[in-house]
Amino acid sequence: MVRLARTFVVFVCLVMLAANAWVVLAARGQELEQARQANENLARAIAQQMDALFGETEHVLSSLSFALDRLDLEAEALQALQPNLVHEVSQLEQLENLYVIDAQGRWRIHSQPQAPADANSAHREYFVHHRDSPSERVRIGLPIRSPSEGRWVIPVSRRLNDAYGRFAGVVLATVGVERLVRVLAAYQVGGRGAISLWRRDGVVLTRWPLREQDLGRSIAASPAYRELMATAHGTFESMSPLDGEHRLVSFQHARNLPLYVTVARAHEEVMRDWRLSATLQTLWTLALCLVVGWAGAYVVRAVRRRSVAEGALRQARDALEQANRQLSHLASHDALTGLANRRVLDARLLQALESPGTPAGPPPALLMIDVDHFKQYNDRHGHPAGDECLVRVAAAVRAVAEAEGGFAARFGGEEMAVLLPAHDEPARVAETLRARVAALVLPGRGPAPQVTVSIGLATAGPARRTVSAWLGAADRALYAAKAGGRNRVVLSEGA
Ligand code: GH3
Ligand code: MG
Ligand code: MG
Repeated sequence: MVRLARTFVVFVCLVMLAANAWVVLAARGQELEQARQANENLARAIAQQMDALFGETEHVLSSLSFALDRLDLEAEALQALQPNLVHEVSQLEQLENLYVIDAQGRWRIHSQPQAPADANSAHREYFVHHRDSPSERVRIGLPIRSPSEGRWVIPVSRRLNDAYGRFAGVVLATVGVERLVRVLAAYQVGGRGAISLWRRDGVVLTRWPLREQDLGRSIAASPAYRELMATAHGTFESMSPLDGEHRLVSFQHARNLPLYVTVARAHEEVMRDWRLSATLQTLWTLALCLVVGWAGAYVVRAVRRRSVAEGALRQARDALEQANRQLSHLASHDALTGLANRRVLDARLLQALESPGTPAGPPPALLMIDVDHFKQYNDRHGHPAGDECLVRVAAAVRAVAEAEGGFAARFGGEEMAVLLPAHDEPARVAETLRARVAALVLPGRGPAPQVTVSIGLATAGPARRTVSAWLGAADRALYAAKAGGRNRVVLSEGA
């Protein structure tokens, strides 16, 4: 019972803990899924925005180079075009400046209010690229520091050709990195999140929060880059190759330009709410387990106490039954000799008279036994020796009675009785009994004390229908035995 209660408590606690683990893990999956969806939506929106923003810039460059193709970079015509550049720059928020650069890298016209007269971009990466490559496509270059103002810009450029298809220079638009950062900063990605704009080859164009050392850095060699190139959009978890933070990264490639956007939220921040509620719930479950355990321990203690109490009760009941048995033995037996007492004898005699067995069988017989000269025995050997003598005589009487299927009782004083319910030879039994007593060797000082009994025998019969009549007949026979000289058996005449 105690073990069952204990097993039950342990089982309940385990079930609660398992349910808690399941709920906590399911909530974690849900939290991640929600964060993934929100992140992907954000990446999609920002990628569209960047696509549009660089698309506009590209459009400006295309129109400008179309106009320049017909002007042939003549100084006068160029000067006429200069206000257009200023106008375009004022129209587009992201544009810092526009430049027309000739084949030697000299700035021919530009939108800047002031610029060094000898400004030259021949050494710039985008210039070298366009000079060496015949492609007329617009190109987004590596972020650079604007030479005139010292601010970070992304050069967006296109090659110019002369009438013979030779390299004639470059049209350049600079997109302000800080302006892009302001756009990105409007989105909430947590204190340790990041939004980045990348060129498809893995170069960082801009990033919020801005870290200048990251601008122009390439992650093409990192494992994350492979994930980013595998599909047009998606989400993965990784350590940032830029700042080492473990993040949930969603990415989206721009539809029209070789750009992609990543929206990354710190894993730690994404899971913060979940972690808090999981911790609270787990603590709550543990508290419940404690309560169940405490209640279980209480039940176990109560069960144990009950079984102890039941044991004590059983013992008390057994003791009571034992006492009852002793009491009823005391009530029906003689304390000195252990024989049944007079009360039991009367009942047995009555029973023998009322149900005398088969009519053809021998009638029940009663032997009244009286110790001869017992007063003298007491006087000679002392009362305790008299008691001992009675005990020995009683044992002999009982042994013979029981061997013959009879019943022995102490009638009173030094008188005893034996009932033989159906015996063929009651006289022989009486004689055996007398001889057995006479042969007893009793303890004592000096010459061994001798003891004898006189026995009166009366069988039940028509003249002895009551216990007292039967007893009277046996008693008279006993007196006859005494009168006849003692140590003998006398049969009652008639019945
Ligand atoms: P008789 O041969 O005529 O029977 O002589 P008796 O002395 O045996 O007869 P009597 O009736 O005069 O004496 C019986 C004695 O038995 C008297 C009494 O002291 C003694 N007696 C009766 N009960 C006990 C007992 O329980 N213990 C002892 N030691 N003596 C007992
Ligand atoms: Mg007597
Ligand atoms: Mg006597």
